[in-house]
Amino acid sequence: MGADMLKFVTLAQKHPEKRAPALRRRDWGEVYDDFRHEAAADQAARCSQCGVPFCQIHCPVSNNIPDWLMLTAEGRLEEAYEISSATNNMPEICGRICPQDRLCEGNCVIEKGFSSVTIGAVERYITDTAFNNGWVQPPRPRAERPQSVGVVGAGPGGMTVAEELRRLGYQVHIYDRYDRVGGLLIYGIPNFKLEKSIVQRRADLLIDGGVSFHLNVEVGRDVSLAELRERHDAVVIATGAYKARDMSVPGIGLGNIFQAMDYLTASNRKGLGDAVPAFDDGTLDARRKDVVVVGGGDTAMDCVRTAVRQGARSVRCLYRRDRINMPGSMQEVRHAEEEGVEFVWLSQPEAVLGDSDVEGVRAVRIHLGVADASGRQTPQPIPGSSYSIDADLLIKALGFDPEDLPALFDEPALKTTRWGTLLIDWGTMMTSLDGVFAIGDIVRGASLVVWAIKDGRDAAASIHRYIGANAAESDALREAAA
Ligand code: FAD
Ligand code: SF4
Ligand code: SF4
Repeated sequence: MGADMLKFVTLAQKHPEKRAPALRRRDWGEVYDDFRHEAAADQAARCSQCGVPFCQIHCPVSNNIPDWLMLTAEGRLEEAYEISSATNNMPEICGRICPQDRLCEGNCVIEKGFSSVTIGAVERYITDTAFNNGWVQPPRPRAERPQSVGVVGAGPGGMTVAEELRRLGYQVHIYDRYDRVGGLLIYGIPNFKLEKSIVQRRADLLIDGGVSFHLNVEVGRDVSLAELRERHDAVVIATGAYKARDMSVPGIGLGNIFQAMDYLTASNRKGLGDAVPAFDDGTLDARRKDVVVVGGGDTAMDCVRTAVRQGARSVRCLYRRDRINMPGSMQEVRHAEEEGVEFVWLSQPEAVLGDSDVEGVRAVRIHLGVADASGRQTPQPIPGSSYSIDADLLIKALGFDPEDLPALFDEPALKTTRWGTLLIDWGTMMTSLDGVFAIGDIVRGASLVVWAIKDGRDAAASIHRYIGANAAESDALREAAA
């Protein structure tokens, strides 16, 4: 029985219940509760089933959104899951942490004057339901293939390419320098955005499906890229971008100034039950401290909201542009403000104050000048506008660049772009080394989970063609020699 769609006319947009900020400040649970079935079906039925769905065009993995919305509205959730999982390896994760306001939902053209369909929340609901009902299965190939692929990095990019290749029957080995699977999903993104059990159940599926993990193995130190190329028929580099940008102002060498990833990793490890000496002795714990975070991206948002939950006395976010020009998701800013974070827009640090440890930050106010070559207005300090704020923990969240992989991997022939990302042929995802592919942040620069998933899917298809072509060539050579 078909469902009535186009309910946007009579039914307002409604997200799942949002937990009260006072509660959120005290625990690490996610912001939104789960959708109840009727609410998900009703919200899905608001979709007007556009002939040209702009939501889908602006979804990096081209999710077939109108179809799974209609199936959800009709209560046909298993089919909705089949369609949703056909284009996305981690729909429940994207449903939680994609910046939907900039992607699918921001481009939902339901009708002028009406709020978008809650696409992300429905996507999350479909796959959470699928997990609860046992519909999500490990990748099980129809037949095994003898060829193997080595994947460097167990983040969302590496996990996706591994799942896709395993489904095709390849022997897949993932190498990661961390002790857990998930990359930034596990040690970067905090629990209140993405609970760790959600990541863990994806890792478990890969293990059940026969993907081999080699954890605590750093490529370039414990094994070389050259060895991996010998060992495997193809290699995928999915190492992310971890070189933290820094700032150079007087006093930056004082104590209690940290990079965002050090701070977030300590907090995430603590939540996972690890012993973290630098947290346990109070150094990386924001409790009862005045915290200042510098930066305006997703990482800065995660730092300020982590500090709130750790019981900081005050939390300020210093950003040199204004609210509409910040790179982080607007939704995250709203959550942070509700939780008590103070945003100090149009300000940047001029000096860090203190004797041995940081005691304050002297900041200067900024005027946004004419646009530069990138189209963004240039921040210009306003003379004489300096002011000071208290700080006994300063966190730098200024973004990430790729590490120098040709040097780390001792492979000078591995070509990079002028931004330090790996140079690839976007048609095949292959680097300058034959049989070595690259995906995710190491080719895009710090980006999004959904783009790493898209790259993983594209690389798997390309590797399948590459290995198939090589196998056909070997067969032809053998026949010619016989
Ligand atoms: P990563 O997730 O970085 O994984 C790379 C893996 O490679 C890691 O496990 C690392 O240990 C391993 N590795 C690196 N070098 C080696 C080596 N030499 N040998 C072996 N292993 C190695 N995106 C969103 O879409 N939504 C968000 O809300 C969001 N929030 C974010 C918050 C923070 C704090 C950060 C830092 C990023 C956030 N992102 C978000 C971005 C997103 O996490 C990344 O774009 C995504 O994880 C990139 O995936 P990846 O697989 O390319 O790399
Ligand atoms: Fe939207 Fe991300 Fe889901 Fe695509 S994957 S539909 S962009 S939430
Ligand atoms: Fe439905 Fe909005 Fe997508 Fe149109 S753009 S198909 S209304 S979700």
